[in-house]
Order: sequence, then C-alpha cells, then structure tokens
Amino acid sequence: MSERKHVIILGGGITGLAAAFYVQKYAKETGKLVTFTLLESSSRLGGKIETIKENGFVIERGPDSYLARKTVMTELAKEVGLEKELVSNETGQAYILHNMRLHPIPEGAVMGVPTKVMPFVFTPLFSIFGKTRAVFDLVLPKRSDSSKDISVGHFFRRRLGDEVVDRLIEPLLSGIYAGKIDQLSLQSTFPQFVETEKKHRSLIVGMKKSQPKLVKTQKTEKKKGAFLTFKNGLSSFVSALKASLPEEHIKTGVKAESVERLEDGTYSVKMEDGSILAADHVIVTTPYAVTKKLFNEKLFPADFHKTKPTSVATVAMEFNEDEVSFSLDGTGFVIAKSEKTSITACTWTSRKWPHTTPKGKVLLRCYVGRADDQGIVHESDEVILNKVLDDLKKIMGVVEKPEKYYVSRMIDSMPQYEVGHKEYVKQLRGTFEKELPGVLLAGAPYDGVGLPDCVNSAKRAVESLFTK
Ligand code: FAD
Repeated sequence: MSERKHVIILGGGITGLAAAFYVQKYAKETGKLVTFTLLESSSRLGGKIETIKENGFVIERGPDSYLARKTVMTELAKEVGLEKELVSNETGQAYILHNMRLHPIPEGAVMGVPTKVMPFVFTPLFSIFGKTRAVFDLVLPKRSDSSKDISVGHFFRRRLGDEVVDRLIEPLLSGIYAGKIDQLSLQSTFPQFVETEKKHRSLIVGMKKSQPKLVKTQKTEKKKGAFLTFKNGLSSFVSALKASLPEEHIKTGVKAESVERLEDGTYSVKMEDGSILAADHVIVTTPYAVTKKLFNEKLFPADFHKTKPTSVATVAMEFNEDEVSFSLDGTGFVIAKSEKTSITACTWTSRKWPHTTPKGKVLLRCYVGRADDQGIVHESDEVILNKVLDDLKKIMGVVEKPEKYYVSRMIDSMPQYEVGHKEYVKQLRGTFEKELPGVLLAGAPYDGVGLPDCVNSAKRAVESLFTK
C-alpha cells in the first residue's frame, strides 16, 4: 500500500489558500493519497485581503477587485460556490491629475496608449510637442532584441515620448505595482506590450487592433466593467475557500521559522515555538524576505528583489451624501508623479462599486505611499487623514470631514519586479529543484502580484506536484 504524502503550505493568503484548495481537489480527482497542512503566522487568514463590513458598508483594506479577463479566479469562485456573489464595476469616466486639475483620461487610451485620434488631439493633458512625439510611434522601428528585458519606462519612453509616459502611462501603470516605472521589468509586468511591438511594431496600431470590435447593442444595455469582486467583499472569498477545506488542516497563529531537508529527502518544518512538522513537499507562499530566512540565504540570487517592497496605506472615508459638496461623475483619478500631493490615487468607491455603500452615503478610498517617498505610511492615522483631506480639498473641493474613516497600512507589501525578474525566478526555481526538490515557491514575489496571478501561481505549483 502506498503511503499518504504530506504537503505543508506556508502562508494563508490567497496563494496559500488556493494551493490548499488545489491539493485537496487534485488528490480527490487523481485518487492519490495526499494530505496537507496550511500554516499561517497571524491569527486570521487572507493575508493582504481584509474586508470590513459595517453599517451597510463593504470596505476593503487592501485589494478591492481583480481583472475579469484573468479567469482563473472566477473559476475558483465557481468551485467554492461564490459565482452568484460576483459583481462587476460600474464603468465611467476616470481622471488624471495634472497641474492640480482633473483631466478626463482621453477616450480610447488603453493602459495609456492612445488608440483614438480625436480625443488624443483635443485633450489638454499634453502639449503639441508631446502629442507630436507620441505619433513617432507609428514610424519608429521595433526593438531589434525584443527578448531582452528592459524597464517599462524605457520601453514606453522610446515609443511614445516622455510627456505621454509621465502624464498618463506612469500614473496608470505604476499604481498597480506601487513602483518606479523606470525600474519595473517590462517582461514580468506588462508582457502583452512586448508582443504588441513584435507583431505590429507600433503600439498605437497594435492596441487599436487588439480592441474588441464594438457590436451595436440596444441602447439600454450597459457596458460591463473590466473588474470583478464579491458582493460581501474579498474576505467572503477567503471564508468560502476556508469552508471548502477541513478545519483541522488549517493552523493559524503558527509561525514557520525554518525548513530543512533530511537525508531521506523529506523535509522538517520548524515553528517559532520549537515544534516540528514533517513533510514530503512544501509550498512556500510567504513574502520574499520571510522565505529567504526560512532557507539557506545562499540559495537566493544576490540581486533578486534587491529593491525593498513598497509600503502603501489606504484611507477609506464615509460621508453623508447630502452633506458633500463635490460632484462624483466618474470612478476616480490617478495622479502624475510630478504633482505635489500625498495621495497617489483616489477611487470614488460608491460610484464604481455601488454595492459597497448604503443609500444616502458616499465612500471614497485614497492611496498614499510612493516608491520614492515612503515616510507618510508610517505617520499616525490622524496625520495621514489630514494630509489626504488637504489634497481632496485642493483637488475636488472636499471641505467636509468624513463621518468615519479607516487607515490601513500595508508595510513592505508590494514586491518590486525589477528588470531581469523573470530570469531570476527561473534561476531560483532551478536551484530549488536541484537542492530542495519538492519545495515550491508560489505567490506575489514571483508570478505576478494580481490576485488571479497568485491563484494561478498556486495552481501551477500544485499541478507540478501531481504530475511528478
Ligand atoms: P500574502 O497575502 O502576503 O500572504 C502571505 C501570508 O504569509 C500572510 O498571511 C502572512 O501572515 C503569512 N506569513 C508570513 N510569514 C509567515 C511565516 N513565517 N509562517 C507562516 N505564515 C507566514 N491585487 C489585485 O488583483 N487587485 C487589487 O485591487 C489589488 N490591490 C492591492 C492593494 C494593496 C494595498 C496591496 C498591498 C495589494 C493589492 N493587490 C491587488 C495585490 C494582491 O493583494 C497581493 O499580491 C496578494 O494578495 C498576495 O497574496 P499572497 O497570498 O501571495 O501573499
């Protein structure tokens, strides 16, 4: 009779929970004798995901939604019975702050790349020089060595010029990674643009061609948003994943301290309290700095994740609708780096996600914490709130104080994918395969920071265990 294999999963964020789900699923489907134990150091599951539900509000402290076109997350939601809870965002005009004025993002700008002539020609966001420079994209040759990784900034600056990058592309793209666009790896963050240049040479032409053709629909049919979340918040997804797993296999408040390979090829995971668990396989989903400490640091490439992850804070604010003097006719705004504001973006949450806010109320959520100015994240709640309100007064004319607010700090939460990231991941995984076979690295430090990327990373790790 074959022996039951034991998989230890370190970390109970979205990656760890998804890994546990797939271990259980594939064990059932293949009839293999595999069991798991998930170890989470804090007292709650979810990691960066945390929803507050109070007085009819659904407030996300960390992530608030995911990209719908990355379907692995929706598939997992279906598997845990949450399909009916999914909601899309309301679409609407998004803005960009430049020279302390909100400018509508020109219609047809796809991740900042213009695809429609008229809105681009008439937007006051760019000078004549900036617009003319961007048009060079139509004639510039493609890069001769497109397989070589370069920074996102370098790539877009060459094709569209500094002005379009600094005023539109940088605020739109760097927000996702809370990073510096001139250091971010193009291959690991936006590989679709590498393909677009390879195929069409011009980004403007390529992005235009890649847009789905508009099928004429009845006027009443509303355009669906590109993002999805859950009616009761992302924490309801965490709860559904937890409920799908046997309780006795999930241990919170247990901090892993080290992982050691034994002579027989199995592993021993030592906890902070001195207890030890034996494993045949280990799936590691902890933040990179923690992961490095669990193993021999020499296994990790010296320059990998050289830049510390960025810390950010979100500030969610509840207002009374009849007391607010500002008009919210869009979904929010992002901010060009040159602006002297504390906030980096603001989502008009009650407009974008109506399910989050009770009738008669308004919910706004702002971000603070730039990659090159981290100080504010460590200020007190009151200081952060006052800086945010000061910005909102100047930008939107908000003079009211919120009835209630939540400041959520996420320290060292955004891994920075620098140029060469993909190669480092490959090198590291190669080393692990050789030195620590059966130990798999998954989650935000490696395969993309988006929630679906994390789910996919977990799924791939588990698949590799079951195909061996
Ligand atoms: P984590 O959530 O960090 O989980 C790792 C877990 O490991 C934690 O629970 C931690 O407590 C645990 N741990 C640490 N050390 C140990 C140890 N020694 N032993 C055991 N356990 C340990 N993505 C989107 O797709 N959409 C968004 O809207 C979005 N917005 C974001 C907003 C913010 C403010 C932030 C910070 C991120 C956002 N992201 C978003 C990214 C996304 O939230 C993360 O990349 C993702 O949640 C990471 O999941 P994870 O499981 O890999 O890591």
